[in-house]
Amino acid sequence: MATLRALLLLGLLLSPAQAQQLLPPFLTMPPVEYDHPYDGELILRREDEPTVRKRCLHQMIPGNVALACSQRWSIENKCQVWIVTDDVIALHAEPRGWTYEMILRHELGHCNGWRH
Ligand SMILES: [Zn+2]
Repeated sequence: MATLRALLLLGLLLSPAQAQQLLPPFLTMPPVEYDHPYDGELILRREDEPTVRKRCLHQMIPGNVALACSQRWSIENKCQVWIVTDDVIALHAEPRGWTYEMILRHELGHCNGWRH
């Protein structure tokens, strides 16, 4: 079964409490048990914002900026991560203190089974 998680810039998908966790300037980091390299097959893609938005569309609220999302296939031990290109990160994430490394760490947490 595939699990898709998206990291969005403003507001969010799931519930107000979960959305608040991701509002600036905070970017949630995975709990320690999920905060480690992914040991399965990792496919990491850097794409422009419209492509990441399209990929993450079912979790998007219209008007939000998509930063990243991931899809995990637990049976196949495979995870695919989409993260926007550096120019989008520079424009929309870094002003809030979010770096590429932090976004990747967040998504790898999802690859490792983290849900929030
Ligand atoms: Zn997340």
